[in-house]
Amino acid sequence: MIKKFFSAVVVLQIFFMNFVYAQEIIDKPVPMSENRLRLTREYSQKHYGTSQTEIIPQAVVIHWTAGPTWESAYYTFYNDDRGDGTVNVSSQFIVDRDGTIYRITPENFLARHVIGYNHCAIGIENVGGVDNVEDLTDAQLAANIFLINYLRGKFPTIKYIFGHYQQTAARESGLYIENVQGYYSLKSDPGPKFMGELKKVFENDGLIFFPL
Ligand SMILES: [Zn+2]
Repeated sequence: MIKKFFSAVVVLQIFFMNFVYAQEIIDKPVPMSENRLRLTREYSQKHYGTSQTEIIPQAVVIHWTAGPTWESAYYTFYNDDRGDGTVNVSSQFIVDRDGTIYRITPENFLARHVIGYNHCAIGIENVGGVDNVEDLTDAQLAANIFLINYLRGKFPTIKYIFGHYQQTAARESGLYIENVQGYYSLKSDPGPKFMGELKKVFENDGLIFFPL
């Protein structure tokens, strides 16, 4: 009964916020083994100076997978280990090209998807962007809008939205922490077109964006 009431509230909230339809979130968790948790604590200790596996989300970072299917992204994120004794990369969500949303780790899990911000950022990986082509779909845009609204409803601490390629500009937020000197990788995802669409929807709605 309480659950039903809560769902109704979420649906109403989303309807009034941006006039998008509520979507289903499909749980497709990667294995959350003791080993993954241990490697996550190690990563957090090394890069952020805190041995944590959970986060208080303050930002949502938008990505593309640079791969053709949601399964290819999912199985890239599946193993505990990246193959070099460090925790594997992952994100909390994958959004398929038809807008289907998969939740692959708990929302407040410290997932490794963006250098400098994993301690406070939820990642949304959108399937697409092969060869750096800005080809994310309208269905993915709608799903990202839904997810951002859902997440900010659940975590009022979320203030910032940025694309992975905006990682340097986003340092202005003060959220960036990286204790390993020179640890950085250049990114182009998900491109200014997709971020521009999200900015149009949310920038006058209390969320902070960075130059496209
Ligand atoms: Zn990315």
